[in-house]
Formats: sequence, structure tokens, C-alpha cells
Amino acid sequence: MAAILIDGKAVAARVRGTVTAAAEELRGKGVVPGLAVVLVGENPASQIYVRAKAKAARECGVEAFDHKLPATTPQAELLALVHRLNDDPGVDGILVQLPLPPQIDARVILEAISPHKDVDGFHPENVGLLTVGMPRFVPCTPKGCMVLLADAGVVLRGARALVVGRSNIVGKPMALLLSAADATVTLAHSRTRDLAGEVGRADVLVTAIGKAEMIRGDWIREGAVVIDVGQNRREDGKLVGDVEFEPARARARAITPVPGGVGPMTITMLLDNTIQGARCRSAQVR
Ligand code: NAP
Repeated sequence: MAAILIDGKAVAARVRGTVTAAAEELRGKGVVPGLAVVLVGENPASQIYVRAKAKAARECGVEAFDHKLPATTPQAELLALVHRLNDDPGVDGILVQLPLPPQIDARVILEAISPHKDVDGFHPENVGLLTVGMPRFVPCTPKGCMVLLADAGVVLRGARALVVGRSNIVGKPMALLLSAADATVTLAHSRTRDLAGEVGRADVLVTAIGKAEMIRGDWIREGAVVIDVGQNRREDGKLVGDVEFEPARARARAITPVPGGVGPMTITMLLDNTIQGARCRSAQVR
């Protein structure tokens, strides 16, 4: 039997409904949730992402403050902007779009963002809090994957979970979240021996690799749940995930499509994190 499709668009729309309601409630208390979106340079993909983030924010009643800086901006100038945003009481979340131009050290910028406004969850303080089981801001893509798993009713306690990919923004936090949910987690990467064998043992598979359809459908364990974070452009122009979709769908119990699976959740979780920041402001605990 073909797998159930996990509909990220529908789940994202539902979560955006709760974000919109929360933004309205906060506005009623005199707190307008605010997200600062900083773009340096003119990378076309980054321009699209930044526009989409600001648009989604406004649609949910979150104020978006756009800061567009030229590609030649010195690091000190970007740092000064980050410090101003840290001090601005109307800003609950700060997002600096990556990648940054070569004269700027992304690590220095991400560490300069106040950990209380770090809605991407990339600041070492927030990474540390997640690691010790006291999460503050959780990175958006893995947080979205966890919402999809919960929405699909997947039982994680005791399940064998495999995460393929160990980036700081997806794979590593994903493994931490699955472990916190009592799954038994394996974190695979480009040096993993026998990836097919690891995939074949997984009840829950999350792929964040960036290689079109490299996980073969016939590797998937019968009845597994597959969350495909990958977004890859095939030579024929088609957008596909890291998993060979149709054969995987024939074996899995549930699977996310690409597009329309994890993608819509990422921006939604950014807005959710911004609401979390605004609630802290409302309670004056920041
Ligand atoms: P990344 O930083 O490039 O990390 C890729 C990971 O995959 C690395 O850990 C790498 O291992 C591993 N890998 C590469 N080749 C492998 C192989 N042959 N076998 C096993 N593991 C392999 O990528 P990322 O930023 O995490 O993104 C991954 C994918 O997710 C991309 O397609 C990206 O576009 C997509 N993405 C989607 C969203 C969304 O909202 N849907 C958000 C973020 C990312 P090593 O560590 O050993 O090099």
C-alpha cells in the first residue's frame, strides 16, 4: 500500500492560523511582534527567501523590518546594525540571511545576535540550551520536522531513528530533538559505512543531504516514516528531495513530498519563534 503523504502545506497553514491568533492577542496587549530581516548583497536565492519571510510575517500580523545592505558592506557596519537591532525593543527576532559576502565572518555575526532574539536558533547559547534539554529557540527546519511527525501521529519513543546529514542547521539539531523525544538515534554522514544498511534498520528516516534522490527507495524499511528535507534541482529542472520518492512511497508508511513537505514548515517555524520572542517581551522576561 502506498504511503500516506505528509502534507506540509496543510500543517503549515494550520500553524500559521495559531501564529496569526497569537499575534493578534499580543497586539491587543500593546506588543506588536517584530521580525528584523537582514540581507547583505544581491544573491538571487537569498532575495527570494528574504521576500518570502517578510511576506509571510506580514500575513500573520508580525511586523517585518527589512534591512537591505550592499554586498560591499564592511563587517563592522553589519555588526553595528545587529547591535542596534539587539537594543530595539520593537524587534523580537533577528534574522541575518546566509550566506554572507566573503569580507564578513558569519560566525562573528551570528554570535553578535542577542540569544534572546536569535529566532533561527543558531547562537551557541541556544545550541547549548537545546543540547542540555532546555530549549529556547529551536532551529526552524528541524522544529518543523518534529511538528510534522507529531501531526502524523508517529510514536518516537523507542523508535529507531536515522538522520542523514550532520549540518548545524538541520541534521545535528534534528538528532537532538529526536533523542529528546526518546527515539534511539543514529546520525549518518558522508563517511558512514553501509548507509543502505542503516536506512534499512530505521523506523524513522530524516534526510538532510542535498543530493538528488541518493537514498534509494528499495533501501527503505517496510512501514518506515520518511521525512525528506532535501531540496535539489535535478538536471531536467525538477525539484526533488534526497529520497527516490515513488519507490520509497511504495514501502513507507508515511512520507513527505518535495515540494510541499518540509519546505513550507521552515518559514512557519520562524514566525512561531518570533511569537515566542514577543511573548517573552510581553511577560518582560527578556
Ligand atoms: P549541508 O550543510 O551541505 O550538509 C549536508 C550533510 O549531508 C553533511 O553532513 C554531509 O556529510 C552529508 N552528506 C553529503 N553527502 C553524503 C553522502 N553521500 N552520504 C551521507 N551523507 C552525506 O546541507 P544542509 O544545509 O543541512 O541542507 C541539506 C539539504 O536540505 C539541502 O538540500 C538543502 O537545500 C535542504 N534544506 C531544506 C530546508 C527546507 O526548508 N526544506 C532547509 C534547510 C536545508 P559530511 O558532514 O560528512 O560532509
